[in-house]
Amino acid sequence: MEKILIIDDSPVQANLLESILKDEYDITVANTAQAGLQCVRSETFSLILSDVVMPDMDGFTLLKTLQEELVTRHIPVILITSLSDIQNEERGLTLGAVDYIAKPFHAPIVRARVHTHIKLYQYRAKIEQEALYDELTGAANRRYYDQQSIIKWQDAIRLKVPFSVCMFDIDKFKLYNDHYGHPAGDKVIAAVAQTVSGYLRRNTDFFARYGGEEFVAIVLGSPASEVFEHLKKVRRSIEDLHIEHKNWDFRYVTVSIGGVTVIPKFGDEYRTYLQLADTMLYDAKRFGRNQVVWSNEKMVQWREK
Ligand code: GH3
Ligand code: MG
Ligand code: MG
Repeated sequence: MEKILIIDDSPVQANLLESILKDEYDITVANTAQAGLQCVRSETFSLILSDVVMPDMDGFTLLKTLQEELVTRHIPVILITSLSDIQNEERGLTLGAVDYIAKPFHAPIVRARVHTHIKLYQYRAKIEQEALYDELTGAANRRYYDQQSIIKWQDAIRLKVPFSVCMFDIDKFKLYNDHYGHPAGDKVIAAVAQTVSGYLRRNTDFFARYGGEEFVAIVLGSPASEVFEHLKKVRRSIEDLHIEHKNWDFRYVTVSIGGVTVIPKFGDEYRTYLQLADTMLYDAKRFGRNQVVWSNEKMVQWREK
């Protein structure tokens, strides 16, 4: 059930709206704009219905605040106005409200408008999902990675924190496909993605499918030694999945991992370090696969094996 937030200082009006919508939606009611803001900061809503005239903070200020915040700016807002309130209606729509509902409520109209905006919201969410995430693994896709890598690189420069970029590549995967078939190979790619992403859960971490059987991760704020140790665990966890790979020396599916940690300075270019991470991956392959090879802040190479 989609979640809708009703913000109205009048409990009577709020209850009335709630009773019109509660059979089809999961409704939360807030009696002030402040309380409403608290709700949207801690829970996810698909639509907000907000009164315009409220004490303390009115519906317009609420609308502006919602649009200024990254996590709330995408939530559609329908304003509730009185029929005579043409000016408020105009102002609300100009400020970015998606629609308005006039008081007194006419239940079928309220339902129809809400239904339309919920459908639009779901449609947009689906398009966004498809545009940014990889279908097979559910991980971020290459396009999303292209955007995020630059944003995170700039964050690291500004915040003067260590930035790590890391490439993963499944070992001897062509041989896996040859023996077990492509559909089975797809399942392995999904399993590897799920396991690796399980180790990259901080909100500053980013993990994506780079293409084929290759993945990329970005970790912010941790020194090279910490990231290196962490990725050794990740590497082992893949081996410990014990996915049979008869054609490969290790008997199980394994990954090679190469990466670099740098404290980037203004003017440094991301692609230089991405290339270095790729070189580390290449070395991990060269040194026998199923291992992590890292370049630390001083560009000294660490090898797991
Ligand atoms: P290496 O250890 O050097 O990485 O060997 P490899 O065989 O993994 O490397 P190579 O790059 O030669 O082959 C990668 C293989 O990954 C080729 C292709 O069959 C397989 N592959 C790439 N994308 C997919 C995919 O989406 N699904 C499946 N099942 N296999 C894929
Ligand atoms: Mg490859
Ligand atoms: Mg490979």
